[in-house]
This record gives sequence, structure tokens and C-alpha cells, in this order.
Amino acid sequence: MKINLKKLVYIPILSSLLFFISCAQPAPRFERVLGTVCFINLYEDGKNEYYDEIFARLQEIDSKFNYKTESSDLYNINHFADQYPVSVSEDVFTVLQTAQEISLLTGGAFDVSVEPLVKLWNINSSSPHVATKEELTLLLPLVDYKSVLLNKENKSVRLLKKGMSLDLGGIAKGFAADEVKKICAKHKISRAIIDLGGNIYVYGEKKNSKYWSVGIKNPEYPDDVPLIKISVPQVSVVTSGVYERFFEKNEKYYHHILSPWDGNPVENELSSVSVISSSSMLADGLTTAFFVLGKEKTMALIPSIREHFKTDFSVIFIEKDKTVTYSDNFPYKVEILYKDWKISS
Ligand code: AMP
Ligand code: MG
Repeated sequence: MKINLKKLVYIPILSSLLFFISCAQPAPRFERVLGTVCFINLYEDGKNEYYDEIFARLQEIDSKFNYKTESSDLYNINHFADQYPVSVSEDVFTVLQTAQEISLLTGGAFDVSVEPLVKLWNINSSSPHVATKEELTLLLPLVDYKSVLLNKENKSVRLLKKGMSLDLGGIAKGFAADEVKKICAKHKISRAIIDLGGNIYVYGEKKNSKYWSVGIKNPEYPDDVPLIKISVPQVSVVTSGVYERFFEKNEKYYHHILSPWDGNPVENELSSVSVISSSSMLADGLTTAFFVLGKEKTMALIPSIREHFKTDFSVIFIEKDKTVTYSDNFPYKVEILYKDWKISS
């Protein structure tokens, strides 16, 4: 009999590896929830009970925000709030309030009442549709954040126009990331990566450095080496980009960020916008809004938005002409990993 020496060497290595894995703390965990893959790494403080608690909270958030789940808050809003006020949970009300503040501050660039347009384009499905002018003309009057009435007293929502409905896809993941961060803080976890489908929160400090390295995608090669490597302390980094969700028809690309004014996917100089902030919900809402506004209008609005939310956030614009621009007084160290890109000042 011929003995395969290579195999004999592999067996002890493999079994000691398995032994090591079974003795070590639980591996980082990922699950499909909130319509995306959510990845959590609690490093050396990771315990199964903490991972369980985090994913239970994410499932709970999903059950309130999922517009498809019958009797979820969002389902109730979208089916009944155009007829009478609908009471919702604290979670959904909090997100709606922040969404409304962002709408007001951005002149309606961010508008959760885009739902009828989102449904019409159906970009997230296997059968997307290129909306016609006539279809858009019919639906655009329903896109109107000023007709979303929020009653703080009884946490209810009323939609003033018949047929209005809401989509929280542009902000809910940020809210969820902040909630996971709260659980990390409660258990005094020393460091964690919270990645909810690209909505990132780096929490705590690494063993030998205060800084984390976070990549921002190259819009031309989103599955490849990131375009930018940014060194940040504990903070959330959120990006809205044309490459995230799109479809192609007759050699034209249609992406998922819609103009509340003409109902079409926004066409401007941008490929993506990233916001770096201690609030992931704010970062999430603002990236979507800033994408709609474009670079110049956003730059002009940043001071008043910072003032309103009493927080310093930073912005990175990535443009189609291969330019990267940072907001004023950008505090983080940045490395661009491709040669043919330039930084505008
Ligand atoms: P994000 O990837 O965070 O920029 O969010 C994009 C998602 O937000 C889309 O898939 C829609 O569900 C929703 N959305 C699209 N356009 C807008 C808009 N102008 N304001 C608010 N939400 C939007
Ligand atoms: Mg967003």
C-alpha cells in the first residue's frame, strides 16, 4: 500500500486547528436581516449571548420596519395612514423624526415619501421597470414630506394625501447600527465592527491603536480593492453609491437613489458620497440626501446641518471624473489606492 505522506501531515494539523477553533471565543457572526447581510465582530469580548442579543435586536427592528411584514409599523403606515393616524413604535417614530429633520434641512432632497416611486421603478427586484413620464407625473404629487404629519404626543403618523406611502430604506440601517452600538456599550465590549450591508460602525479601540482602517469602494470596481483607505477612531462610515443597486436597460444604467423632484434616478457628477459621523442614522440619511443634492449644494449646506444636529460630521465625494473631494477641515488620514485618481481642493 502506498502511504500518502502529505495526507499524514495534514491530519494532525487539521485536528489541532479544529481543537483550537472549538476552544476559542465564538467566531464573528453574520446573518441576513434588514434586507441585507449584517456582520458583527466583537473580537475578544465576543460571547454567544452577546451575538444572540444583537441579532435579536436586529430582527426586532426588521419586524417593525419591514413594509412586507403584515402588521409591522411600516405596513400599517402604508396601508392605513392615508385614512387615519397610525400609532407606531418608539423606534419607527424616532427614525421618522430624524428623516423629517433631514428633509427640512435639505429642501426635500431626502424624502421618505418616495415609496410610490421606489415601487414603480422596482429596482430591488428581478423585474425592474423604466418609469415613463406619464407614470411619474401621476405619482410625483404623492412625494411630499410636508404631508407626513408626526404627532409626538401619541407617536402617530398621518399621511395627508390618499395613496401616499413611506420607504425607510435610506435611513433604517443607520438607526439599527446605532442600536447595535448601544448594546456594545452596555456590555462594555472593548472593540467591535458593526457592518450592516456596508453601513459601518467601528466601535472602541483596536489593541494597539485608536484608529481603524475603513475602505471606501471604487465605484468602477466595487468588488475590488477599495478606492480609499481612511483611518478613523470610533465612528460610523456610511456610503451611498450608484453601484449599490442598479439595473441596465438598452445600455443605460438606472440606480436606486431617486430624485423626489422628477422621479428619476439622480444624474449628477457623483458616483458616491460618504458621511463619517458618530450617529450612523444621521450618516445614513445624509448620504442619500447629499447624493441627491450633488457636491456644490451639499458643501453650502454642511455648516447649517452641523449646527442643527450639534455634531461635526465629515463628507467625502467621489465623482465620475475620478476626483475625490473632502468637506472643510477634514480631520482623518486618507490614502487613495489607485494611481489615476485626483484630489480636488
Ligand atoms: P441609501 O443606499 O442609503 O442611499 O438609500 C437608498 C434607498 O433609499 C433606496 O433604495 C430607496 O429605498 C430609498 N430612497 C431612494 N431615493 C430616496 C430619496 N430621495 N430620499 C429618501 N429615500 C430614498
Ligand atoms: Mg442612506
